[in-house]
Amino acid sequence: MSLSKENAEARLKARKPVPKPTPAYLPVSGSPLTVDKDLYNGIATAPRSLIEEFTIPIRSGRAWKAPAGSIIRISTPEGPQVGDLNIWNAHNPREKFWAARTKQLHASHVSTGDRLWSCLPFMRPLVTIVGDSLSWYGVDENGGRVHDLLGTGCDGYISSVLSGKGYDFHCRSNLTRAVLPFGLNEGDVHDVINLFQVTGLDEQGRYFMSPCPAERGDYIEFLAEQDVLMALSTCPGGDLSRWGFGADSEKEMIKCCRPLHIQVYKLEDENLLQKNGWKPAEPAPYKGLHGLLVPEGEHDAASVKS
Ligand code: ZN
Repeated sequence: MSLSKENAEARLKARKPVPKPTPAYLPVSGSPLTVDKDLYNGIATAPRSLIEEFTIPIRSGRAWKAPAGSIIRISTPEGPQVGDLNIWNAHNPREKFWAARTKQLHASHVSTGDRLWSCLPFMRPLVTIVGDSLSWYGVDENGGRVHDLLGTGCDGYISSVLSGKGYDFHCRSNLTRAVLPFGLNEGDVHDVINLFQVTGLDEQGRYFMSPCPAERGDYIEFLAEQDVLMALSTCPGGDLSRWGFGADSEKEMIKCCRPLHIQVYKLEDENLLQKNGWKPAEPAPYKGLHGLLVPEGEHDAASVKS
């Protein structure tokens, strides 16, 4: 049955006012969604020493490990540049970042105090954001916000669908090459968080991207809530001021591509976290039986069947 135009208009006219909703996952005090501000501010400002640092050149990717309790700082040393980040449990790549759930639990765009959560059947924080020099950005005149969970990374597949041509240095390809030395492959690459990227939905609900507002030295910092493997791509779209599809766009966009810098720190007081009650994240307590009665052995198998 098709809905006639008149009927649709009548139903729209008769639609009852919808009360202003509250956020579905609004955390209560003490919730795992709400970090202890004093503790996490203390972590962010405590003396730290550098474990590792490197720069990721334009249009490339690199992966690295960071132990639980370390701080990972990703910065824009030469100015605006978008970075596409993936995260896994360093010991089990089945546990990886879950962008959709994180977006529900916190917001479409994240900042200090928000956590990046892992997929099922794990459901625990991989990292918590402890510093964000772009937290002032808020919401712009178009409804754009920074550090995007609405979208995902660029890839050669959609690029070839839309432009007829593939390209080997999109974020998905950069992340794929980055994880190969760690024994992972393209199947392990997942939906990203688009760091330093401003996005939103327009009045028709369509995804848009605006130029990156980062300047030289802007940064975001994470506390590793467990041992993690992270991979980052310096997006071939650069600062997104010249975004487009096709070979011509790739030549144009390289003019606004810049590197990203990674620093991994450990806290100088190695007991600071434990002294303040911090523990590496535990998986969700649900056992994942889904109502199934699984027999222990032959003796009780018959009773389970009956
Ligand atoms: Zn990209």
